[in-house]
Amino acid sequence: MDDVTKARVASMLHHRSKTLQPGDPLVAGIISSATYHTPDVANLSHVYGRSGMPTWEALEAQLGILEDAECVTFPSGMGAISAALFAGLGAGKRVLIPSDGYYVTRLLSAQVLATYGVEVVEVATRDIATADMTGAAVVYIETPSNPGLEVCDIAAVSSRAHAAGAIVMVDNTTMTPLLQRPLDLGADVVVAADTKAPAGHSDVLFGHVASRDPAFIQRVCDWRRLSGGVPGAFEAWLVHRGIETLEVRLERMCASAGMVARRLAEHPAVTNVRYPGLSQDPSHAVAKRQMSGFGFLIGFELADAARAERFLTECPLIAQATSFGSTHSSGERRVRWGDAVPQGFIRLSVGLEPVEALWAAMAAALEQ
Ligand SMILES: *Cc1c(COP(=O)(O)O)cnc(C)c1O
Repeated sequence: MDDVTKARVASMLHHRSKTLQPGDPLVAGIISSATYHTPDVANLSHVYGRSGMPTWEALEAQLGILEDAECVTFPSGMGAISAALFAGLGAGKRVLIPSDGYYVTRLLSAQVLATYGVEVVEVATRDIATADMTGAAVVYIETPSNPGLEVCDIAAVSSRAHAAGAIVMVDNTTMTPLLQRPLDLGADVVVAADTKAPAGHSDVLFGHVASRDPAFIQRVCDWRRLSGGVPGAFEAWLVHRGIETLEVRLERMCASAGMVARRLAEHPAVTNVRYPGLSQDPSHAVAKRQMSGFGFLIGFELADAARAERFLTECPLIAQATSFGSTHSSGERRVRWGDAVPQGFIRLSVGLEPVEALWAAMAAALEQ
């Protein structure tokens, strides 16, 4: 993490200080009021909860500092992704979507956008920087992709997409704005599931859209207000609290993931370890250039489905659960969601457990 990012983290932790009056609570409140005192409708900061709430705004201020961009929050990562895609597309428009990215984004495109007349073209993450972008309105990428951890070059994709007249959206969920900065690399829009590392405790669903294009942000805000997909105050408050420790959690998680990935790569029962931080990983060169940490997700294979299930059942420090980025390590066979991965492929999210305790439990489970 570079010094500029660290300075952003420091200022995020004090973002409310400028507005505090003596005696004000230091912590943002959970203000769930649906409606506001409205003797007149002109010049009011708040009128009705679907248009804006103080608790979202506190979180949007934090996210805005980290992204160095305007941020609009949503009740889930998919809520944010839907908003960005609906704001950027329309009937007759073409979108490039990763064939190996988060499967729900693919289903949203195939089952919803396509029925509204959007032309959906699927491209593998590793081919997207050289794909034919002619006629595309949106090039949507996810890097590193979930679950395969393939990486694409955001700057290269952005310059080719812009030359073709398209805007670039990046799902930055696996990295967060602390480890990868798509907007600085030329992308137009970031979408992310704050459900994962930013909230960080597996106790809330949340998402946001970030962009430096005021017209695009206005369309996303309009979509939120008109569609009614608005976050709740309590959920926003949980993310506001969780994100304060994001940097220290990432530091532990990335360091542990690097150690675990190296040991998995040397283990005789394990094949095809994917971690962008391993020097032998096919993504390593691009990852090193555009990421300021290699993340906390590892992909690896055991011999078959039964071996993989046994490992997950026998390891007491890996929660058998979907999702990632929480305090606890978690893992699952992604094939159960229909991802195009081998039967024995496990996606592991490394948590905050002291790494030697985690590795000892994993090593014992691998011997089973
Ligand atoms: C989890 C995830 C999402 C969706 O987030 P939700 O909060 O579950 O809606 C989107 N993209 C990626 C890469 C994810 O991992």
